[in-house]
Amino acid sequence: MAKGRGKKDTQLTTAGRDPEHNFGIVNPPVYHASTIVHPTVAALEEANLKPFEGVKYGLRGTPTTFALEDAVTALEGGYRSVAVCSGLAAVTAPLLAFLKAGDHLLVSDNIYYPTRKFCDGHLARFGVETTYFDPMIGAGISGLIRDNTRVVFLESPGSLTFEVQDVPAIAAAAREAGAVSIIDNTWAAGYYFQPLKHGADVSFQAVTKYIGGHSDLIMGMITTTEESFLPVKRECSDLGLHAAPDDCFLALRGLRSMAARLARHQETGLTLARWLEGRPEVDRVLHPALPSCPGHDLWQRDFSGASGLFSIILKDASKAAVAAMLDGMEMFAMGYSWGGYESLIIPADPSAIRTATSWEAKGPLLRLHAGLEDPEDLINDLERGLKRLTAG
Ligand SMILES: *Cc1c(COP(=O)(O)O)cnc(C)c1O
Repeated sequence: MAKGRGKKDTQLTTAGRDPEHNFGIVNPPVYHASTIVHPTVAALEEANLKPFEGVKYGLRGTPTTFALEDAVTALEGGYRSVAVCSGLAAVTAPLLAFLKAGDHLLVSDNIYYPTRKFCDGHLARFGVETTYFDPMIGAGISGLIRDNTRVVFLESPGSLTFEVQDVPAIAAAAREAGAVSIIDNTWAAGYYFQPLKHGADVSFQAVTKYIGGHSDLIMGMITTTEESFLPVKRECSDLGLHAAPDDCFLALRGLRSMAARLARHQETGLTLARWLEGRPEVDRVLHPALPSCPGHDLWQRDFSGASGLFSIILKDASKAAVAAMLDGMEMFAMGYSWGGYESLIIPADPSAIRTATSWEAKGPLLRLHAGLEDPEDLINDLERGLKRLTAG
């Protein structure tokens, strides 16, 4: 399968494709499979020797899966990738791959909530202790690493509060201590940030978000260095995690237009963020590309752009006022997940889920996803919403 040629945007259109060996057809075919048959006992035994090379069993992927994995590997700049059935499976499988009873785990305090739930629930139940740390800790992470610390888990920027982390410093400290660094790279979609090039061992993303891009698909992709590939692939195989071929087809289709979509998400996101920054109802805008966001300088140093997801903190406002604003939105819909073509807005309370740091904000937080609509329609919708917020 083609590794991809040229610069980043060209790779997104070339990686994982092989028309020469497929009747000249542009896209890889969708292979459905469980059983893979072998002509002889010798061939069967040979296949068992290398369970993670080539087409061996439907659970471990077909050429459709491998096409998508190769394309995302090129995007993330890794060794190999593993497609799994959800973004959440891409969180849990690498943790389970590297941790065992008695180990210690360090997790950033701005983490996606289901990740925290998995650490505090499942991992605790199996004897793994988790310590949460300030997302802005940087090289100071060394002070928290213990003899039995095996994994440092990051998310940059955090998908609710948007702190950008010093990934190179944290990954280097982890490596020096013999721990593995794993990072949730969903916000940057593997496109605006390549954590493996900054020292991380494992980078994953919810394909559900920008690669899928159309709010109709659930999938995760884990990309690794050469050393971390086998443990991750083995774990996904042991757990029976599997990305379905039709979903891989949808993800490949999404991937081909992702650069163009992300450019628009970025532009509209910044337009909205800057407009909101100037509004009297807004106390603060948390957008990595704006100086008011913690870690903005790190974003400038390590990232090549911004996706369409950011938050604002309102000045003090009652729950009823926020509901009046959000209930009447005409362009922005309310709902979890993001990365599709449509704009979204949700209220959230980070103070309820933090443990290592306290969340000091004047008012309620709203998280916005800038979709592909005309930005003027979105601004008008927000303007009417902010009027409802202060009307009561
Ligand atoms: C959505 C999301 C996930 C989980 O993805 P699902 O496909 O919904 O399971 C993980 N991390 C982040 C940051 C996400 O936004």
